[in-house]
Amino acid sequence: MSMNKQGRPTTPKAATSEARPTYSGNQGLSQAENLIFEIGDTEQTGVDLAEPKNVKSRLGGMDRTEIIGLAGLSEPQTMRHYVRLSQKNYAIDLGVYPLGSCTMKHNPRLNEKVARMPGFGDVHPLQPESTAQGALELIHELAHWICTLTGMPAVAMTPKAGAHGEWCGMAAIRAKLDADGMDHKHRVLVPESAHGTNPATAAQCGFTIDEIPANDKGRVDLEALKSKLGDDVAGIMLTNPNTCGLFETDIIEIADLIHSVGGYFYCDGANFNALVGRVRPGDLGIDAMHLNLHKTFSTPHGGGGPGAGPTVLSDALKDHAPLPFVVKDGDKYRLVEHKDGAGKASFGRMCAFHGQMGMYSRALTYMMSHGSDGLKQATEDAVLNANYIQASLSDVMTPAFGGVCMHEALFDDRFLEDTGVTTLDFAKAMIDEGYHPMTMYFPLVVHGAMLIEPTESESKQELDRFIGSMRSLAERAKSGDAESFQAAPIYAPMRRLDETQAARKPVLRWTPPVDIAEAAE
Ligand SMILES: *Cc1c(COP(=O)(O)O)cnc(C)c1O
Repeated sequence: MSMNKQGRPTTPKAATSEARPTYSGNQGLSQAENLIFEIGDTEQTGVDLAEPKNVKSRLGGMDRTEIIGLAGLSEPQTMRHYVRLSQKNYAIDLGVYPLGSCTMKHNPRLNEKVARMPGFGDVHPLQPESTAQGALELIHELAHWICTLTGMPAVAMTPKAGAHGEWCGMAAIRAKLDADGMDHKHRVLVPESAHGTNPATAAQCGFTIDEIPANDKGRVDLEALKSKLGDDVAGIMLTNPNTCGLFETDIIEIADLIHSVGGYFYCDGANFNALVGRVRPGDLGIDAMHLNLHKTFSTPHGGGGPGAGPTVLSDALKDHAPLPFVVKDGDKYRLVEHKDGAGKASFGRMCAFHGQMGMYSRALTYMMSHGSDGLKQATEDAVLNANYIQASLSDVMTPAFGGVCMHEALFDDRFLEDTGVTTLDFAKAMIDEGYHPMTMYFPLVVHGAMLIEPTESESKQELDRFIGSMRSLAERAKSGDAESFQAAPIYAPMRRLDETQAARKPVLRWTPPVDIAEAAE
């Protein structure tokens, strides 16, 4: 494989040994694409502006005198560059995206239509309140839906991601403990199976982390939890259903135990897609929990748009909610922006403005178009789909724990024992089958974990095709075809990359190749 200076393979390797390498590097209509710096010419720009006449520079002698080395492209070149790159992306709009714990569900187009309505899409965060009443009403209405679905008295709407919501909840707990003179409470219990953001959040908020092991059923070991209780315990951060895809059956007892030592119960609500309309977290003794609107409520993730992590708070914590928040006075909506009046005990401000308007309008559209019965149905279908996958694969792959699962199916790598194929090889082979791999090597409590979350969006036909691919791969692995797994992916534009090298020695900056003539001198 030829490599460029950054150690990246420059040309896609022909898909099969018989395939003829092409002169262009393209394969059929799949276009090879280089970095923008490699195709761009610094002397060129996409616009051709006339020299302004009689205009004096206002830069006070700070005018740029040298070329800064940004790649210049004409408009059609720019267009093709980004369209070609976009075609190398895998997306939920293309196929199954079974990334466990991420709830990669379909983003209904109705959401997009509403989010683009001028009053929502064009609203400016500095607009006077009197001109943004509709937008504030939407935030207020969404907060009402969230409180109803979770059975909680209050919600902080501003956090912009799940991890940000965790921070909000833990900061509210810290503020409450401080207000009550409980500054000796510094220890937070975190189960072994937790998402990495949980211990990171607790540490960010100044707590120390104490890990609780899982039992052989993939749930919190209650005896171990009891042995860790003490006066310095500030709380617990628990995910339910947990990251093994299992309902924490002792959750009410866990809540009681934590409360009995004066601690608070933070629940990571990223897996709420397994509970909506069936279980209200408020009934389980939870004090704070974030929701990922970009998971459970169908707003796009990451590159598709920013996320939102509204965080519900119990009566004990709600006065410490972050600023600003929306309140309704009579028939008018207003933002509480300062630490006085209703905001007096707030722990402060964690966002410049009121949060992600585009996510709010999408999530509320999703909720209202589904209605309470539709939301419950979505949850039930998500759990049914995961169990269909688990049941259809359990004779060729190894489910990590017995029994039914919630909205995601967890397998370990026992079925690959002695095959020479690892979880990573298996995931790479899924790419050749046209699937984004599932979450792998997480949760850490399971060896070689493969966590599959189909969501309710997949039809039975699509699930059957996916199951067929997974079965065929599992059978191929067991028939001693390790070499082809280790070579996978062969059909992807880039083949297997050196991920260790990429993590340890990332090349984050493009450097121009040394000019040949210059180098020769
Ligand atoms: C996704 C996820 C998070 C973090 O949410 P972000 O929006 O990515 O910050 C936290 N916990 C769990 C269990 C998750 O799946």
